Amino acid sequence: MIKTDEQKDRALDFIRQIIAEDLKSGKHQRPVTRFPPEPNGFLHIGHAKSICLNFGIKVENNGVCNLRFDDTNPSKEETTYVESIKKDVAWLGYDWGKRPFYASDYFPQLFDFAVALITKGKAYVCQLSPEEIRAYRGTLTEPGKESPFRNQSVETNLNLFKKMRDGVFGEGSHVLRAKIDMTSPNLNMRDPVIYRILKSMHHRTGDTWKIYPMYDYTHCLSDMLENITHSLCTLEFEDHRPLYDWILDTLDTPCHPRQIEFARLNLTYTVMSKRKIMQLVEGNYVEDWNDPRMVTLSGLRRRGYTPSSIRSFINTIGVGKRDSWIDMTVLENSIRDDLNGTAARRMCVLDPVKVILDNFPAEQVDEIEAKNHPQNPEMGNRLIPFTRELYIERADFMDNPPRKFHRLGPGREVRLRYGYLIQYVSHTTDERTGRVVEIHCTYDPETRGGSAPDGRKVKGTIHWVSAEKSSPVTVRLYDRLFTVENPEADKETHFVEHLNPDSKITLNNAIAEPSLIELLPGDSVQFERQGYFCVDPEESEEGIPVFNRTVTLRDSWAKKR
Ligand code: ATP
Ligand code: MG
Repeated sequence: MIKTDEQKDRALDFIRQIIAEDLKSGKHQRPVTRFPPEPNGFLHIGHAKSICLNFGIKVENNGVCNLRFDDTNPSKEETTYVESIKKDVAWLGYDWGKRPFYASDYFPQLFDFAVALITKGKAYVCQLSPEEIRAYRGTLTEPGKESPFRNQSVETNLNLFKKMRDGVFGEGSHVLRAKIDMTSPNLNMRDPVIYRILKSMHHRTGDTWKIYPMYDYTHCLSDMLENITHSLCTLEFEDHRPLYDWILDTLDTPCHPRQIEFARLNLTYTVMSKRKIMQLVEGNYVEDWNDPRMVTLSGLRRRGYTPSSIRSFINTIGVGKRDSWIDMTVLENSIRDDLNGTAARRMCVLDPVKVILDNFPAEQVDEIEAKNHPQNPEMGNRLIPFTRELYIERADFMDNPPRKFHRLGPGREVRLRYGYLIQYVSHTTDERTGRVVEIHCTYDPETRGGSAPDGRKVKGTIHWVSAEKSSPVTVRLYDRLFTVENPEADKETHFVEHLNPDSKITLNNAIAEPSLIELLPGDSVQFERQGYFCVDPEESEEGIPVFNRTVTLRDSWAKKR
């Protein structure tokens, strides 16, 4: 049995256990699963749970996993979404074989199955209005009422259904319903609608069809047609399982996949459903579906998340039967852990203030060697220009520092990372604003590399860049999109009220060491002491990188709460 690295160390979850038993007993030779997105939006991290589960099972067991577009609602679906979904699944590292599948490919068969149901006396055309159908359905405590059309003859139903197909009737005037049980305690079994009239253009079948099958009807039959063995879905479909089974049993199909439900992923400090994400995009609260603050896979990719960090996150949270919330910190830790091992270290000063080394010769450039990664010598070294004028972080200087402040201030000596020890001399401030303009220091030429031959102790080490040899860059400090754990908890307040006003802070004058300018779109680095950043793939140009903060070095939200 082939296992992915990520899955290797874990005990099997309940779904993988069922599959292992089915393989052992010989019920199935190999598992056949599917990932069935509706192409009505971009995929999000919740979908990643389903993708990693379905495709993970395929990889671990040498099975098959189909990518199937559940495209039965022409009014909301688009080709753009199909393309973005394929891109995201491939990016996560999964392969769906020769071709993707489309529920719309099955429209002719689904029509024939509907005719078969009618012929068996198990479906009928109903002319109640949508409101009447709802009223007749009853409630959890009251049984439903039978439609007056329920006992029409098979001939009448066949005739009406074909007229529905031929576009004779208007939208909403007729539906095809399964004839099951209006008194069932399960509302899904009270003669559910299985076909409706819709006269919109479908992204693949154009105007061929005037009627479209409903989700529950389409799903089980598509699974069956693809010989799916285990149809994995989220818990809200548990109540739909009897209908899934009823359709396949009633049609006496040659294959009957087993539906198994698992808990969906809920993540704090975000909203996840496509409908909510769409509202953020359409209301211009974010820039697009791939805004780096979004938990869409395209947003996470642009933010600097790697496929392995997402797979590892999904593996960490596991697969269970009970709905629960996962803290955003868990996702953030997955990318921190990943980049900690792989991202080269660089220096970039986000909020610069100038330091002038009075005793360092003007025009001189000292090329200082710095490690690209503190624990990984294989990543090599680079040279950084050290010059008389430098920039340091404004927050690394204090005019009147408390005792515990181990950085630069009057009377203080501090270490410049990989460089020299420098000693404060004086500073100037802007008269009007009181802001520090320049800090004068002297450097100790005996301390190249950062240690003093006389053994004197200097506690603080700060990062820096050469003022003369570095370039300003744009850096975007991204943070969580919402300020509360569950933006949807309060029914009185719209979730957009909880948007974090500081979720994107753009710095146009950060100063980057020269090697940062050469990075390519998508590259990730650690800015020492600041966090992990990646080169934005959309807005960077050659030689003009725009940096997105992927994540800070530590979880700053834990402190705030
Ligand atoms: P949304 O609720 O975001 O609109 P959806 O369920 O309508 O998503 P689909 O395109 O129908 O989106 O989903 C494709 C698959 O992904 C389904 O099998 C669905 O159960 C699964 N899925 C969607 N959201 C989650 C989630 N949060 N956790 C786990 N699986 C999910
Ligand atoms: Mg849905």
